[in-house]
Amino acid sequence: MIVDFHCHLDLYPEPRSVAQEVEDHQVATLSVTTTPSAYNGTAALAAGKPMIKTALGIHPELAVERSSELEIFDSLLPKADFVGEVGLDGSSRNSASRPVQRQVFDHVLRSCAREGGRVMSIHSRGAPAVTLEALAARPDAGLPVLHWFTGTPKNLKTAIDLGCWFSVGLPMLSTDKGRELVRSMPVDRILTETDGPFTTTSGGPSYPWHVTTTLEALAQVVALPTTDARQLVSQNFTNLVAGAV
Ligand code: MN
Repeated sequence: MIVDFHCHLDLYPEPRSVAQEVEDHQVATLSVTTTPSAYNGTAALAAGKPMIKTALGIHPELAVERSSELEIFDSLLPKADFVGEVGLDGSSRNSASRPVQRQVFDHVLRSCAREGGRVMSIHSRGAPAVTLEALAARPDAGLPVLHWFTGTPKNLKTAIDLGCWFSVGLPMLSTDKGRELVRSMPVDRILTETDGPFTTTSGGPSYPWHVTTTLEALAQVVALPTTDARQLVSQNFTNLVAGAV
């Protein structure tokens, strides 16, 4: 089994055929959503496809526009085993929305805690410290998997101490800073991701089965044969899901 723990299946031009190929390639895929109103339609893509798990999300860059959907979020949460994409975005173009982003993220974490905790795929671009602060304030929200984490080594240490896991993609593995972070992550908390269709692999949009390329890059960084890295990530995924659902 190979693992894509953060992919926007519903945002490909041809989501149904991608979902079928994911199943054919046996890619364990976390299909994240960016709005609560997209959840049901996206979950329908996974019907009869046990490799695909659908996550209920509200993307921080849509926090202002979609904060009215928090009611929908809460009503869907009991049937969603996974949450994402949620978190905070510190990019300068989103600076005006930071207070609302934080309100929305705190609401999400509170709701997850009320439901007994969820595995959560977390966005923290440009905001690693505040994202970790929000998570630390709600340890009962569940298990955070930091997606495409680009904080400092000190931020990473805080995340590790909080019990966070990490989903790592090709862009992270393509920079010295990213590789250094990955080398400092506990190997038993690392998953692979594409963040498709928003990233590229070999010049085209990334599809979940392209995590084979991610695994080759990860294997080099953690100094393992590719087959061992693949086995490691597969086992990590199995352990995570066994604890989650
Ligand atoms: Mn994403």
